[in-house]
Amino acid sequence: MSTNINNDNLPSPQELEALANQLFKAGPGGFLSELPSQKGADIFSIAPDISLFNTSAPVNAPAQQAPPSTIGGGGISPSAVNQGNAVNLQDPQTSFADPNLSSQSPSLSPATGYSQPAFGGQLPVQLNGDYESYLKKTDLIPDVLLRQNFGVEQLSAAPQDLFHLPYQQDQHFDTELKKVLEQISTSAPGSSGIFNGAPTTTAVPFYFLNDTHGLPAVKADKAQPSKAGISGIITPPFDVNIIRRDFPILQEQVNGKQLVWLDNAATTQKPKQVIDRISYFYKHENSNIHRAAHELAARATDAYEGARKKVQQFLNAGSINEIIFVRGATEAINLVAKSWGDQNLNAGDEIIVSHLEHHANIVPWQQLAAKKSLKIKVIPVDDDGQVLIDEYVKLLGPRTKLVSFTQVSNALGTVTPAAQIVQLAHLAGAKVLVDGAQSVSHMPVDVRALDADWFVFSGHKVFGPTGIGVLYGKEYLLNETQPWQGGGNMIKDVTFEHTQYHDAPGRFEAGTGNIADAVGLGAAIDYVTRLGMPLIAQYEHYLLVYATQLLKEVKGIRLIGTAPEKASVLSFVLDGYKTEDVGAALNQQGIAVRSGHHCAQPILRRFGVESTVRPSLAFYNTCAEIDLLVNTLHSLKR
Ligand code: PLP
Repeated sequence: MSTNINNDNLPSPQELEALANQLFKAGPGGFLSELPSQKGADIFSIAPDISLFNTSAPVNAPAQQAPPSTIGGGGISPSAVNQGNAVNLQDPQTSFADPNLSSQSPSLSPATGYSQPAFGGQLPVQLNGDYESYLKKTDLIPDVLLRQNFGVEQLSAAPQDLFHLPYQQDQHFDTELKKVLEQISTSAPGSSGIFNGAPTTTAVPFYFLNDTHGLPAVKADKAQPSKAGISGIITPPFDVNIIRRDFPILQEQVNGKQLVWLDNAATTQKPKQVIDRISYFYKHENSNIHRAAHELAARATDAYEGARKKVQQFLNAGSINEIIFVRGATEAINLVAKSWGDQNLNAGDEIIVSHLEHHANIVPWQQLAAKKSLKIKVIPVDDDGQVLIDEYVKLLGPRTKLVSFTQVSNALGTVTPAAQIVQLAHLAGAKVLVDGAQSVSHMPVDVRALDADWFVFSGHKVFGPTGIGVLYGKEYLLNETQPWQGGGNMIKDVTFEHTQYHDAPGRFEAGTGNIADAVGLGAAIDYVTRLGMPLIAQYEHYLLVYATQLLKEVKGIRLIGTAPEKASVLSFVLDGYKTEDVGAALNQQGIAVRSGHHCAQPILRRFGVESTVRPSLAFYNTCAEIDLLVNTLHSLKR
């Protein structure tokens, strides 16, 4: 082996290139035949392109620009630790780049005695856009570059190697948020919450990422590209400030203040990648699908079926035939009730739901029960809002034909032990529907690991458009079930005497569907997949812990839903205030929260209330926004 000109016994660049080419040629599937010659260029000088987040856009769609060097938004930045800085939030020079966000925070000295920000400490300074150098420091760069520059779709590492459980992927927000949480748990007077006043030196566990609840873990089928494999492999560093730039509406002014969107359980905001994708569809692809022999029909069909494939991978379903596009979670549950339920349940049969359910997972079963003389049983919850598994087991019996329950409660935020509930139902011989309306945007979901017979969700709650949603069903079950609606698109052959239906998914997609919004949902799935669902879960978990701890310090507050395993939702009532008044006061500060019964009256009544105030978090929310929320509540109480 020859050495380079410095004669330092290192191989020359030419030799390295030749070696790299050998390696690539030997690579699985021969995914690269040759390393494109860099002709001496430093590959790290290739600027990372944020359009990495925009793979849903067609190849000829305009690429996104890399972010400029100053990033707006507030809160904790993953890279702040790199900079070693901390700033006083009250100092407009050094605090968040967004002057509205920091200046609108009321300067409080609340009864609890600590000054703003609510936890009385200092948040690290934001990133200032040093995204490129941050990328260079990470191990991710080769994958990122391969993806961007060489168009590699998938590297062939084993799924278990790619799945980054929390803390395996070292994200800077992790360290920073832990520090901040330590600070609030020691500095907030009367701290009595999650940390019991003790510094948090150990990692907060991520129950729902590894949640088998004592059951054997289900291994992903290696034959299929697992969701973990897709998201884990190219996950870029998670930076809330950069992410926020993708959501134009977050710059909106409300009552003269910058919008703080904390109504994510009702609907999520849309990144420009989704908005642009829908616009691109109408500009370049719009046609009805499946039925015409022209170019635009082919483009529209490809885009629609491509979105189905993305959903399949997102849920780790076994086949695209298991993915049915519907209007949303409500329509998906109604579809199952009015087709499978109507065809298979008989008088005296029993359906079990949990006390946590949204009305969408109660009313269709009640309608069916009334029609077919079925019995509905309810799994009770404890005073924290956790389902009582022992009581559930007592409800199961030979007459149980269906268990239908939510993976995350929209009113309390409780994460249910879904795998365990499914497995127990199957042991009793019942089918299971899992309502994923509130889970898919907050945690990785794997329908094969979950083993649900059906799984439903709405596009608009996972950063996609309204009017589109998904019913996942096991293929054999879908094909055994007669369609609930008839019409075009779902038939193989029609005579006046007889109709032959397509297999799933066609048999359940009668008529012209919501083509453009299905494509938009595909773009939303691309977006969250690029961010990485495990990272989203990790970041949001810390935000939730942060918010919970601070809310507990508000005088007269009662948190409704205090399960240790929660996602996104912070429901509460405030002594002396109607929930709508609290909502109105927050609205004055530009903060959007839901106040009301959240379409989940039974569970609120279980806690003796008719309505709550419900801030709900998503990955684009920040600690600064939570400070503003909490401080506004403190000022109300004064
Ligand atoms: N299930 C749950 C848990 C929900 O939170 C919701 C909506 O809030 C639904 C079902 C119904 O969703 P959609 O109105 O999008 O059909």
